[in-house]
Amino acid sequence: MASEIRLEKLRREFGPTIAVDDISITFPSSSVTCLLGPSGCGKTTLMRMIAGLQEPTSGEIYFGDQNVTDLTPSQRNIGMVFQYPVVYRGTTVFSSVELPLRQQRISAKERKQRVTETLESLDLMDVAYEPVAELNNATRQKAAVARAVARQPQIILFDEPITNVDVSAKVQLKRALKGLVKQHAQTIIYVTHDQTEAMTLADEIALMQSGKIIQRGRPRDIYNDPNSRFGGWFLGNPGMNFVDYTVNRDGEQPMLNDPLFAQPTRISGLNGDSNVVVGIRPERVTVYEEPMPNSVEGTVLRSSVVVGGQHLMTIQIGDVVIKAKVPYTQNYEPGTTVYVECPLDYVSLFAADGHRLETELAY
Ligand code: ATP
Repeated sequence: MASEIRLEKLRREFGPTIAVDDISITFPSSSVTCLLGPSGCGKTTLMRMIAGLQEPTSGEIYFGDQNVTDLTPSQRNIGMVFQYPVVYRGTTVFSSVELPLRQQRISAKERKQRVTETLESLDLMDVAYEPVAELNNATRQKAAVARAVARQPQIILFDEPITNVDVSAKVQLKRALKGLVKQHAQTIIYVTHDQTEAMTLADEIALMQSGKIIQRGRPRDIYNDPNSRFGGWFLGNPGMNFVDYTVNRDGEQPMLNDPLFAQPTRISGLNGDSNVVVGIRPERVTVYEEPMPNSVEGTVLRSSVVVGGQHLMTIQIGDVVIKAKVPYTQNYEPGTTVYVECPLDYVSLFAADGHRLETELAY
């Protein structure tokens, strides 16, 4: 059984910069957690502290019941794969994967078996006796993964391991990683700024912003129910549409009027907020050629950027501009009048400071 990783009020400052801001979280054992966030949010610093490569300013790190905060990286017995793997000149793939096993004084017979099994599972047998330095980026990165996995550590940390490989190799590497994780059930933390990578690889995403984990959960849940405007914007390709509204209090009933909604829309569960932000994902916006119940009229400004086999349209509705992702078969020239529906079930409401409001909308 792999260990869970528990962080208690982990903090790292660099002069006035708070890179990691008192994070307390448990990464469950035998699962893949992606640390996802934009550049500079503290992902690498957090990862390096877990690895023992960076000293925390304060706070503690546990692997299972063991407090590892003061242990060296080698005492922590973890596997690591970085964006730029270290390449030892002249070393073949086989010997590079075997070396850590030699250091662990594992018998020759078992070494051979483990290395072969790992190389087979990553489809690397063809290059087993090639020098690592002569491999292309993607294969070299797979060799680095093999080296980390073959040792069978309980914990493996990946820091943007596939950022520098081309798209087709990315798919291959992702598949290989998924297979390995299933097979060995290690506890994996995977740092990335690429949401597609996180969505496809993670059991759970821990979304980071400004040194904090602002939301964690299954990829679908975070995608469907971001607890902040930042989460709605950062996840998605492109992220949510946001439209500012001033709440209209018709008597005591808070309402949203126009432009996205065909009818005045009642808000229940709202407290004092009077300025709110409506968020809806482009793929939830429905576009019709003819007026439909609950649709509003708009004009296509731009169209036809294909994203994942769909059209991305920019549509002007009154003085608001939103994006809609529509099926490939739907394509309208700029200037076309269209009818747009934002289904209330898929609309999120955020406060002016960006946190999600627990409200419901109804016509
Ligand atoms: P990226 O994806 O660009 O690597 P990140 O999310 O991994 O970003 P970190 O590299 O952890 O973020 O950096 C977090 C913050 O800490 C940034 O403001 C960065 O400038 C700062 N920082 C990181 N390492 C150092 C250092 N050695 N000295 C000073 N500041 C640092």
